[in-house]
Amino acid sequence: MRTKIVAGNWKMNKTLQETVTLINELKNLLNPHNNVEVIIAPPFVNLPKAVELLQDFPIKVAAQNMHFADSGAYTGEVSAGMLKAIGVDTVILGHSERRAYFNETADMLQKKAHKAYEKSMTNIFCVGEKLKEREAGKHFDVVESQIADALFQLPLQAYKKIVIAYEPVWAIGTGQTATPDQAQEMHRFIRETLAKKYGRDLANAIRILYGGSVKPGNAAEIFSKPDVDGGLIGGASLKAQDFNAIVEAAKS
Ligand code: PEP
Repeated sequence: MRTKIVAGNWKMNKTLQETVTLINELKNLLNPHNNVEVIIAPPFVNLPKAVELLQDFPIKVAAQNMHFADSGAYTGEVSAGMLKAIGVDTVILGHSERRAYFNETADMLQKKAHKAYEKSMTNIFCVGEKLKEREAGKHFDVVESQIADALFQLPLQAYKKIVIAYEPVWAIGTGQTATPDQAQEMHRFIRETLAKKYGRDLANAIRILYGGSVKPGNAAEIFSKPDVDGGLIGGASLKAQDFNAIVEAAKS
């Protein structure tokens, strides 16, 4: 059985003080459960505080991005080694906002995925098609190439620390969710794509999260689909009660 994951992507939200408040609210509300792994990804500057506040509580802390180089003249960037040094060993890579607004290319993501593997970091790797691509019937091709371009150079053992997040771009922050059947269809396709390349065992073991306007009201139905192993949550991860309700939905 695959343990579900509920991961909160805070994006560029919450000051240091607000981070402390939200984490304390989560610690009060969340009722940890062996069947669900909970992750939050605050902005870089608030990661050390998040790690400190959560050292005795089963919520993992992730970064929202990292650079592929170890160090050097990359103004404004943060390396895998820097994250590990503060106790962060999970990173979200390839989020559609990074691809769209910061021009992250397949080549960059391949290097980042390789760096995450080299540094033994868990890589929550985001894929997903744009609305135009879905309307043109190209969504499977798009997602397959996003996975192949960034991840297929990696050896099988790298996948112990890879989680795929399927996030249709048209559903992120729009209030428009993929139907549970649309999510299931793509998750199954992703699993089959991985099975063809790496074999059935790997495909059966990898966790595939759905992301895109998941809310307390729709989480349970989406998570009930057989190939959906939890969610990557944006907006609703900023409210402790909503995030807690989504974690609860993953338990059932
Ligand atoms: C996301 O940014 O990963 C996301 C899924 O956002 P939202 O839940 O707000 O659609």
